Amino acid sequence: MTSLCLKDAAWLVPMAGEPVRGEGFSSLEVLEHCSANLEGDRVASVGSGDDAEVIFDASGCTVVPGFVDCHTHVPFFGWRGDEDAARLSGVRYQDLHRGEGGIFRSARMLQQSSDDEVLAFCGELAAAMLRRGTTTFEMKSGYGLSVEAELRQLRLAARLSERVPQRTIATCLAAHAVPPGKSQGEWVGEAAAELLPIAAQDGLASACDLYVESIAFALEHAARLAEAASELGIRMRVHADQLEDSQAGAFAARWGFASADHLNHTSLDAVADLAASDTVAVLLPGATFTLRQSAKPPSRSLIEAGAVVALGSDLNPGTSPICSMPFVITLACRTYGLRPLEAVVAATVNAAFALGLHEEVGSLVPGRRADAVVLAGPVDEICYRPDRDRVMAVVCGGKLVHVRPGAEGRVTRS
Ligand SMILES: [Zn+2]
Repeated sequence: MTSLCLKDAAWLVPMAGEPVRGEGFSSLEVLEHCSANLEGDRVASVGSGDDAEVIFDASGCTVVPGFVDCHTHVPFFGWRGDEDAARLSGVRYQDLHRGEGGIFRSARMLQQSSDDEVLAFCGELAAAMLRRGTTTFEMKSGYGLSVEAELRQLRLAARLSERVPQRTIATCLAAHAVPPGKSQGEWVGEAAAELLPIAAQDGLASACDLYVESIAFALEHAARLAEAASELGIRMRVHADQLEDSQAGAFAARWGFASADHLNHTSLDAVADLAASDTVAVLLPGATFTLRQSAKPPSRSLIEAGAVVALGSDLNPGTSPICSMPFVITLACRTYGLRPLEAVVAATVNAAFALGLHEEVGSLVPGRRADAVVLAGPVDEICYRPDRDRVMAVVCGGKLVHVRPGAEGRVTRS
């Protein structure tokens, strides 16, 4: 008898534990009338229904691996809804950022709040993410803007990690906005010499990230941080080509970065570079939606050229106040042209690959962490009726952590 069985799912998408790209999509399996058997915090088997201590009747539903949100700006404190309202009245994001608002305002809000306040605020966010099926998420610093404050944010991420049931991983967003009174080069030098070594050696971050944009940092700074990260044995990521084509997508692919994220203005030449590399193209349609950007990433070209494409929420108080991966999947299908199954891949195993966690999460194969989401209806209708809550149940680390009100009758405990 196993500990938990998601029994008789109408459709089950196991994923094979490796990123899916190019031709791989044609051999993607969707199993019909299938159960997932979980033992402790691991997947035991996928196939016929087992006797289990807890059985969730998944008939009529789709079971997918727990969602992996590979790009968030948690931990942060407080929202910036007034800036969103100002944008809706015609103010540009760049202008908010150049003034007292944007990233600088979130940095102040974080600085003015106590550790306990930040942890309580982010704990609620993590709980909301869990109810929507996110069982693994990435966190970033980047609202510190000084060595000390960036390290405080990473230590808060580590403390949050201990309090939430999800698997988490942290990134040092070493260059997010240029700290007042410093040049870009001065800050990047300080980040490379002081911040990153402590973040890496204390196990506070497994990757370094930066924001390449005319209002932030340039490719020379990406190179400087990449050198430091390579010496410290941590991976590189980059916020690339979001507001203009800065060539950061192609740069990331050529330098072997773990991911290039956003890519709204990425050129077709850069698509070829990404497709020829293992650098994950992380698409963040929540930010495009919130900023009402007309420029969309070359999503279909990326998929058809064979790039590893992943999805993230970009959860942050300014440009993507969105924590629901089902909503991100809907946006990816509706506005970026992903097919439903591609979007599920992008939100699970490919997102896990971007974080270097694909051997642990993002797929429902024996031995992997027992994280799963039960969604109402067929997998190819995942973005149909987008205002409906499709999440019937969530399993995180082998535990049934959420059952939608009204679905309690599907649970049998022996
Ligand atoms: Zn971001």
